[in-house]
Amino acid sequence: MKIGFIGLGIMGKPMAKNLLRAGHQLTVFDIVKDAMNDVVAAGAAAAASAKDAALSSEYIITMLPNSPHVKTAVLGENGALQGARRGCALIDMSSIAPGASQEIAAECAKAGVRMLDAPVSGGEPKAIDGTLSIMAGGDKDLFESVKDNILLKMGASAVYCGGIGAGNTTKLANQIIVACNIAALAEALTLAKKAGVDPGRVFEAIKGGLAGSTVMNAKTPMMLSGDFKPGFRIDLHIKDLANALETGHSAASPLPLTSSVMEMFHALRASGAGQDDHSALAKYYEKLSGVKIS
Ligand code: NAD
Repeated sequence: MKIGFIGLGIMGKPMAKNLLRAGHQLTVFDIVKDAMNDVVAAGAAAAASAKDAALSSEYIITMLPNSPHVKTAVLGENGALQGARRGCALIDMSSIAPGASQEIAAECAKAGVRMLDAPVSGGEPKAIDGTLSIMAGGDKDLFESVKDNILLKMGASAVYCGGIGAGNTTKLANQIIVACNIAALAEALTLAKKAGVDPGRVFEAIKGGLAGSTVMNAKTPMMLSGDFKPGFRIDLHIKDLANALETGHSAASPLPLTSSVMEMFHALRASGAGQDDHSALAKYYEKLSGVKIS
């Protein structure tokens, strides 16, 4: 299939490469020209704009940082919608505000373009090996038609969650659970250290019990070694929690835990740690308590 792929960052690049490996014809665009080099070397054609990438495509995939970037790339001057033919489809795989997905879908509908919001969970390693978890909202027939040929070439699972925006609402739920888990982990390991118990022993002892989790297994070793190389950056998690708070407040769904962790992330960003992995929540607790987990 002919696919226009827009946004070739940490996630977009390996996802695009997996689509090439699956035999799709890709035309790619990123505002940073060098970001396209690897994917072009792997067989994609380079476009001069998002509009250009959409011109001959049956499907347009976007993998961009946040709502304003997707609006610019799709609806803006030289955006994908200016090049898209009636009947083609947009699959936005960025993590953005569900309300923004709905606004973009409404504009797409006017141009005869169907849309899915289909954000992912799993990070760069799973983007590379094509085992992302994909959560989708929007046109159900479109979802069924792209599930096997496109989505499952980038992911190990693709679940239809509901109407347009439901994919991003699901992603916000994921990001709330991850953030609160990491904060609880940092709080608990700091307590252990402060009370004189080796945090590494605590991890060994409890990881197989009810408190054990994928988050615990992935993030405890980072806290124990004090290595906060991303992974998933605090700045991106702040973006997701801002979208969660906005969505929660407009749906009259208070998010007290999310608000607390958001302030911790902001304190870390203010101290210069915005580019650290989100497991650097450990640093916040280390500062509060005066001990180091590592
Ligand atoms: P990134 O910043 O590495 O890549 C984004 C790319 O988009 C960049 O190359 C940038 O130049 C390009 N871009 C920005 N505006 C553009 C525009 N108007 N037109 C064309 N290109 C444009 O981000 P990423 O880590 O790849 O994340 C992408 C999305 O996936 C985000 O919404 C993020 O929250 C989500 N996500 C990231 C991870 C992760 O671990 N990095 C995991 C799951 C989901």
